[in-house]
Amino acid sequence: MNYIKNVMDSVIRKNSNEKEFLQAVKEVLFTLEPVFEQHPEYVRAGILERIVEPERIIIFRVPWIDDNGMVKVNRGFRVQFNGAIGPYKGGLRFHPSVNASIIKFLGFEQIFKNSLTGLPIGGGKGGSDFDPKGKSDTEVMRFCQSFMTELSKYIGADIDVPAGDIGVGAREIGYLFGWYKKLKNSYEGVLTGKGLEYGGSLARTEATGYGLIYFMDELLKSNGKSFRDAKVVISGSGNVAIYAHQKVTELGGKVIAMSDSDGYIHDPEGIDLDTVKLIKEKERKRIRECSSIINTTQFYKGCLNIWDIKCDVALPCATQNEINIETAKKLVKNGCFAVGEGANMPCSIEAIDYFIKNKVLFGPAKAANAGGVATSALEMAQNSMRYSWSFEEVDLKLKNIMVNIYNKASEAAKKYGHEGNMVVGANIAGFIKVAEAMLAQGIV
Ligand code: NDP
Repeated sequence: MNYIKNVMDSVIRKNSNEKEFLQAVKEVLFTLEPVFEQHPEYVRAGILERIVEPERIIIFRVPWIDDNGMVKVNRGFRVQFNGAIGPYKGGLRFHPSVNASIIKFLGFEQIFKNSLTGLPIGGGKGGSDFDPKGKSDTEVMRFCQSFMTELSKYIGADIDVPAGDIGVGAREIGYLFGWYKKLKNSYEGVLTGKGLEYGGSLARTEATGYGLIYFMDELLKSNGKSFRDAKVVISGSGNVAIYAHQKVTELGGKVIAMSDSDGYIHDPEGIDLDTVKLIKEKERKRIRECSSIINTTQFYKGCLNIWDIKCDVALPCATQNEINIETAKKLVKNGCFAVGEGANMPCSIEAIDYFIKNKVLFGPAKAANAGGVATSALEMAQNSMRYSWSFEEVDLKLKNIMVNIYNKASEAAKKYGHEGNMVVGANIAGFIKVAEAMLAQGIV
């Protein structure tokens, strides 16, 4: 469709050096063709031209002092991408690779993901090129305080509510929240992923990993398959990967490999989750250490080779662009029948097309990993009520949300002529709600 191609060309012209952002936009735009054929009013209202342009991007200096008294400077980002259906919502990523392109791709994806949850949250994302790895707790605290000194000018419980992402876990959220409270003299639910003692929600820690498996379980069941006895490979060993492992195991599957940025561990008997939790969550060490504790577990250097292992289900849960077309071919050749994106954009566009052509059951990130942000929205609801739900209540709501996302995506795919294609279905279902809200609110 010419209209979509013209919008894409203009996005390429304006953001030519932002490859991750362009990849994310391209992946969404061309799946929306059938929507624009049926809704000429979206074209007149410039919905697409507006949705690809962030409402606001804030870039700021973050100076802090290390333990040797040396001044260090990092760059901070917050993109407030689209606020049509609620306050901006999306995590903060602290990783040396962070730049404007990565934050914009994540913020763009977040618009549709948040819409799919059915909850009133707009799309945003932020972070810094700061690397928490190898820093002391006091260095991390000083960095977080400096970061929040600037960020606090732009966020608030009804404006923009950040959360965690890569490199931002319970420790970082605690420091960020404490400093916001001190600066503003206000106790508000301005961040999610908080500790249970100060306004956090039960099941938030588990939510993205559990949600991924609830979604994939629904997809598998609808196609006559299940996790029972399935051999599962999960990349990463952070928040998403760990709780995906826990839920896969509960459903009778066996996780045979996990990784971090150094390499991967393989154990045909099944990776022992308690050991991974001890090494990665508690001791903040490298995954290779697991092989010195469990003797059936082998460590291999180089994290991408994890996809050489024969498996039934592949769950990329580390970072963007882990699976390219060559990796996709390997997985299909080895008999992998389902791929669920726990990470954001872990598969290239060519890899996704290959999976779909080869009838691999594919759960795209926007739908499959929406459980984290959905539970963050439940944390916001509990903060507003000044009340908290039990683990079981939150977990049940999370499960219902994931099943609803599956149903919405699958119905949209069918309605617009792409039955069974979760990528098209998730993009369309997420887009239409935001487009309708933008239409109703006029040109803003
Ligand atoms: P964590 O920081 O807890 O864990 C990230 C894991 O991925 C670590 O094992 C890390 O290894 C590995 N990793 C990170 N970057 C790279 C890289 N460049 N190459 C290889 N491995 C890497 O993050 P999360 O688990 O929270 O997030 C993982 C993914 O899930 C991200 O894409 C994130 O955007 C997405 N996501 C997270 C949500 C959440 O609620 N946490 C919600 C929705 C999506 P190492 O320890 O060596 O750094």
